Amino acid sequence: MSIRGSTDSVLLFYTINYVEYQRRYDTITSQEKTNLSHGYIPAEEYREMSNLGNYQTAYERFLKDPEKFWSEIASELEWFKEWDQILEWNYPNAKWFTGAKCNITHNCLDRHLNTEKRNKVALIWRGDDGSERIITYRQLFREVCRFANGLKSLGARKGDRICIYMPNTPEQIIAILACARIGAVHNVVFAGFGMESLHSRIRDSESRFVITSDASFRRGKRIDLKSIVDRAIVHTSVEKVIVHRRTRPRTELYSEIEIDFYDLMKERNYFIEPEVMDSEDPLFILYTSGTTGTAKGILHTCGGYMVGTYYTCKYVLDMKPSDVHWCTADPGWITGHSYIIYGPLLFGTTLLISETTPDYPDPGVWWDMVEDFGVTILYTAPTAIRMFMRHGEKWPEKYNLDSLRILASVGEPLNPEAFEWYYKVIGKSRTPIVDTWWQTETGMHMVTTLVGEKMKPGYAGKAIPGVVADVVDKEGNSKKAGETGILVIKGPWPSMMRSVWGNDERYRQYWTQIKDYYVVGDLAVKDDDGYIQIIGRSDDVIIIAGHNLGTAEVESALVEHEAVAEAAVIGIPDPVKGNIIKAFVILIDGYSGSEKLANELTYHVRMTLGPIAMPAEIKFVESLPKTRSGKIMRRVLKAQEMGEDPGDLSTMEE
Ligand code: ATP
Ligand code: MG
Repeated sequence: MSIRGSTDSVLLFYTINYVEYQRRYDTITSQEKTNLSHGYIPAEEYREMSNLGNYQTAYERFLKDPEKFWSEIASELEWFKEWDQILEWNYPNAKWFTGAKCNITHNCLDRHLNTEKRNKVALIWRGDDGSERIITYRQLFREVCRFANGLKSLGARKGDRICIYMPNTPEQIIAILACARIGAVHNVVFAGFGMESLHSRIRDSESRFVITSDASFRRGKRIDLKSIVDRAIVHTSVEKVIVHRRTRPRTELYSEIEIDFYDLMKERNYFIEPEVMDSEDPLFILYTSGTTGTAKGILHTCGGYMVGTYYTCKYVLDMKPSDVHWCTADPGWITGHSYIIYGPLLFGTTLLISETTPDYPDPGVWWDMVEDFGVTILYTAPTAIRMFMRHGEKWPEKYNLDSLRILASVGEPLNPEAFEWYYKVIGKSRTPIVDTWWQTETGMHMVTTLVGEKMKPGYAGKAIPGVVADVVDKEGNSKKAGETGILVIKGPWPSMMRSVWGNDERYRQYWTQIKDYYVVGDLAVKDDDGYIQIIGRSDDVIIIAGHNLGTAEVESALVEHEAVAEAAVIGIPDPVKGNIIKAFVILIDGYSGSEKLANELTYHVRMTLGPIAMPAEIKFVESLPKTRSGKIMRRVLKAQEMGEDPGDLSTMEE
């Protein structure tokens, strides 16, 4: 249903509803205004007990001597040989910990074996059917070594690209770590992708091997992966396919190039020396989500990535030895690489991984798992939070969520409405919300509100110590507080991408649009306290009568309305205003779309953001086009509206 708000009907609506509406609006906004200006002060315990301590002190320590700051963190990890130099900055190319030798798996596994962590649980896995597996650090170490020996026996060598196309299982983590163990460059492809996406990623990375599973399970259904791989490897450089066979009767392996995952491990040694890697040797290639265009193969290297992910687990997620950490992303995304696998294992925490779907068998399944496993850190995405909001508080209320200590978010702006819900309904107004802004390209968290700091709904927060972020104009001049601008990172950081695979020029573009600054591609605004709010993608910005409007601002205003679960807005060219706004809205269960509601929403946006931001048209929809990592693809909506080619759709959800 699509409703174009005619001026007359809108005016009529305003007059009739004005008094009632003004009353309601005043209560919403006074609350909002308080939150925005004062934020939430975290409980005493968090201010006193966070690993970082005082933010300002830590940030000043970093500014005083950035290299000393990073070298102290790097020294908490083990290196086969120390670095000659912390940073070699040859704009726009950085080398970190030059001359150092390391292997990230030594720090994720071997390093813990001589400590009390030897028999600590590393992984808890929960399958789609509720089955469970538990693996200790010692066991994980042995499995990784055996599988690494298996890969070696096939002729895999340092520098080879190995594509991993598996569901979220312990075998997937074993495969990833085994690649890193022997110095092979892993290229993990999300198992929800189809043949074309897999094929292009195998080709682009020139992978010699593919590690896969015969099937994944979702909502009780078996999804065949093997047949996708069979087709995806045609006309590629793939020499061998290793198959983790999960189903019974066993999937037949026909061709000579196929090998069973566990056969490959059979009778292999439980130890393999870690490959001695140069700090700047490649660790992995990972393709971005493809929200704004064709996905880019982001290249990360060993030393800097290791230091960045370890550092942020310790100080942003504030990990403690007793934590049970659950990051609900898939290892097919950077969040999974950095905060399911590498960071938490470097820190030595217990992590929960799961093949479950958030609303199967019912929308209580996650909260059941939090209670059951005593999860202390939950790291998820706004898309999931908004989905749970849509189903209502009754689901989380059935479970005891007292174990939760920290709630984190990533992927899209966490709009104030979702923040409040997460904070109050899940966190019981007690746990800090850590809204982490970062990217595949940055490798680690960059901008967030650290545990113990004041939280402001709608604002990710400040640059973490180690990072300098700013909001600037096209020439690179800092914007004043309250002004929208381009979000940039000033200067290199250890876990930054080193290149776009096979496309150095694309890499340079990130750094050369504004001299010396890394241009992230998002628009943002800073407040008087230096807190940064992400207001949308640069590609999605809507220019109306000369004003730059961020999509997130308008969407957040819509979602603030009690009837709205989720919203996406786009700009449609208009001869007079340059652009007008069209909004796509998903309603909360129990509401239905009508002209009256469309008018009310239009009015609500007007009252929140002013007349400029008023949608000219509101369409009620059941779903929005999203990437498989859960991000709204506004470019698809726009192409649809304009009757244009939507571009690369390979990363879109079905
Ligand atoms: P592509 O670059 O291919 O278009 P993508 O940008 O979605 O895809 P990712 O690297 O997975 O690929 O996502 C990073 C982007 O996600 C950021 O640039 C930002 O737009 C958004 N993002 C991530 N975390 C946050 C956050 N906490 N708040 C607001 N936006 C976020
Ligand atoms: Mg991006």
